[in-house]
Amino acid sequence: MTMRDRIDVIRESIEAAKLKCGRTDTVHLMGVSKTHPYDAVCEAVSSGLFLFGENRVQEIQKKFPDNRNGFELHLIGHLQSNKVKKAVASVDAIDSIDSLRLATLVSNEAEKLGKVIPVLIEWNTSEEESKSGFSDFSEYLMLLEASAQLPGIEINGLMTIGPLTENETQVRTAFAKLREIGEKSKQKFPNIDFSTLSMGMSQDYHWAIQEGSTMVRIGTALFGGRDYS
Ligand SMILES: *Cc1c(COP(=O)(O)O)cnc(C)c1O
Repeated sequence: MTMRDRIDVIRESIEAAKLKCGRTDTVHLMGVSKTHPYDAVCEAVSSGLFLFGENRVQEIQKKFPDNRNGFELHLIGHLQSNKVKKAVASVDAIDSIDSLRLATLVSNEAEKLGKVIPVLIEWNTSEEESKSGFSDFSEYLMLLEASAQLPGIEINGLMTIGPLTENETQVRTAFAKLREIGEKSKQKFPNIDFSTLSMGMSQDYHWAIQEGSTMVRIGTALFGGRDYS
């Protein structure tokens, strides 16, 4: 299959999942290009994909040219504080804000560059210890309360990684939890935008869409397997 074919197949499955639950709104497709070369990204861009995610700042700096044209690049992996400056300079959005401290550092760096960085707040909805993201409401609420004093970031919604299992109920429960957190947050903080729910990867995006995902992050199904050797 060509890249264009794979993109078409995924877009069709997205539409099928939407149809299954009567959704007519947009679900954005993000291509997750980690470990794959820049050529693969360019091929996807020329096949009509305009949104990409990478999970490591170092890889972004090595792989992508300084002046990207025609597509958006988001950081979707855990961001260490010593990489914040580079991240803010090299991506269009950070979808993995997992602490108030990180949000503050990102906002400060963005202000220095005269930028406002769109962000998503990451939740650890499966409570797997290896995952980053909020799992505590009081810490999360502190971030939402502080966000009015963080002019370098603009919250656009929430992000989560589903549990590592093929059990439909367990996976959907995690995604439903993110949706519910978004709904509750919107009631409590009507001035903050919670419209983006970034959830669903190659194995589980059909379930994520049925639980309300507005952005799926697809790596393997688009670019093939990853070689970490
Ligand atoms: C790697 C990665 C993905 C893509 O995973 P696939 O299973 O290859 O589709 C999505 N989101 C995050 C945060 C990732 O690190």
